[in-house]
Amino acid sequence: MSHPHPDLSAPAPLPAGGLRVIPLGGLGEVGRNMTVFEYDGRLLIVDCGVLFPEDHHPGVDLILPDFHPIRDRLDAVEALVLTHGHEDHIGATPYLLRERGDIPLVGSKLTLALLGSKLREHRLKETAQYEVAEGQTITFGPFVLEFVAVNHSIPDALAVVIRTGAGVVLHTGDFKMDQLPLDGRITDLNEFARLGDEGVDLFLTDSTNAEVPGFTTSEKDIAPVLDRVFAKSDQRIIVACFASHVHRVQQVLDAAVAHGRKVGYVGRSMVRNMAIAQDLGYLTVPPGVMVEAKELADLPPHKQVLISTGSQGEPMAALSRMSQNNHHFVQLQPGDTVVLASSLIPGNENAVYRVINGLARLGANVVHKGNSLVHVSGHASAGELLYCYNIVKPRNVMPVHGEIRHMLANAELARATGVENVVLAEDGVVVDLVDGVAKIVGKVDVGYVFVDGTTIGDISEASMKDRRILGEEGFLSVIVVVDSVTGKVVSGPEIHARGFAEDETTFDEVKQPIIDAINASIAEGATDSYQLQQTVRRVVGRWVNRAHRRRPMIIPVVIEA
Ligand SMILES: [Zn+2]
Ligand SMILES: [Zn+2]
Repeated sequence: MSHPHPDLSAPAPLPAGGLRVIPLGGLGEVGRNMTVFEYDGRLLIVDCGVLFPEDHHPGVDLILPDFHPIRDRLDAVEALVLTHGHEDHIGATPYLLRERGDIPLVGSKLTLALLGSKLREHRLKETAQYEVAEGQTITFGPFVLEFVAVNHSIPDALAVVIRTGAGVVLHTGDFKMDQLPLDGRITDLNEFARLGDEGVDLFLTDSTNAEVPGFTTSEKDIAPVLDRVFAKSDQRIIVACFASHVHRVQQVLDAAVAHGRKVGYVGRSMVRNMAIAQDLGYLTVPPGVMVEAKELADLPPHKQVLISTGSQGEPMAALSRMSQNNHHFVQLQPGDTVVLASSLIPGNENAVYRVINGLARLGANVVHKGNSLVHVSGHASAGELLYCYNIVKPRNVMPVHGEIRHMLANAELARATGVENVVLAEDGVVVDLVDGVAKIVGKVDVGYVFVDGTTIGDISEASMKDRRILGEEGFLSVIVVVDSVTGKVVSGPEIHARGFAEDETTFDEVKQPIIDAINASIAEGATDSYQLQQTVRRVVGRWVNRAHRRRPMIIPVVIEA
């Protein structure tokens, strides 16, 4: 991972009365958000999310923040505050709770409900949970917390104010400033202004859309587009979106009702989350509109709407299976309409376009953000961020939640409004707020923690590199048997390849050079099989690079008989 602060060493102890900020994830990537605040020897964590792997993380299921810097201080954690229910903010919580099971969890009603179902899936006991709402104050050790309503692409999101002896911190969480949201719950700029008047010492702000000029389009602007799509379609409609995007699902339900269609959910997380959202009153389901997805097929196609998971091209999700014509009960028909009412998260492009191509090949009309306004972002654009800086008038700003380019753009916006001190930190870079000034004071070692099947953190960057080599270059094994007394090659070399040339005779030309090299090594006094294996690796590596322009993984095995 690139790092703008390569020269930093471990930070000195935190001065008395200072607040330390340790980002463990989310600064330098969109995902696995986790920030630790330290005051007077006590810790407060904001968010604990996952990052979804990209093409260059073959075989990886999830990527976690690195808990290592706080692992032996988990007893000092007062609470984990969850700003909202997105996976990049709550998804790693079960893994943290495996290390200390009784960390108090703090979040809004919907956030805790979504988290609860996740903890049950991981078979974790529900720990002490503190449900909070905007306007509420709650104290954990030296941290006095207050919550502020923010608008985002999931209901019930909160910004958090953290008051300590070091000053006032305002963390926006993920937010935007949609002025006409479906639920009427806007980002509370009154409260931002009041905090600004009181004095915000450190303002941590969502960088995701800092490069996007202007203002993020309102969620409501999607409604007329959906209406046109529904009006034009005379067959089945399938809409894919995030399984937590309650308001997007609401708009699809409303369009379905307006056009006399019935709706079924496809995908486990969609079924589960929408049941929670409906139970808690965040989703209004008009009577009679929902049908079990499997029974929907009994209706004529022009009466059917499916709301599905898989909008990011996830290979195991419903939409991807439909695009390959192997979903267990949804078979696409030519003329069906598929709407991807979703963002395109960086890194998922290939997977998403693979799905779109698969759907198009089956004859579906595919509507996506590239050809229609069927998605709006959940994050504040540059104009909204400028507003916030002018209202909050913070002393120090720390951009969070983004790749480095997003955080740099966000830093520029803060400076443009006159903020004098902007600290640009990536994962592991430690920031202290002392006497009202935030400064980078060092860094702690953090890396990617890969979840792979049942293992957590056992797969290293080195094995990830091996996987990439195997995936891109293939594999060669060379087996040679050497007589331990005479030092002569008595059998082999036997060369086997995978993901390389199919024709085994390809390797004939390198067999004699291998034997010659082994003989030469032994003549020079090489005795153990490790040295001989290195010899074989060198000869084969040079040959394959010269003759085939390839760098496969080479596994030499020299057996002494
Ligand atoms: Zn979010
Ligand atoms: Zn997020």
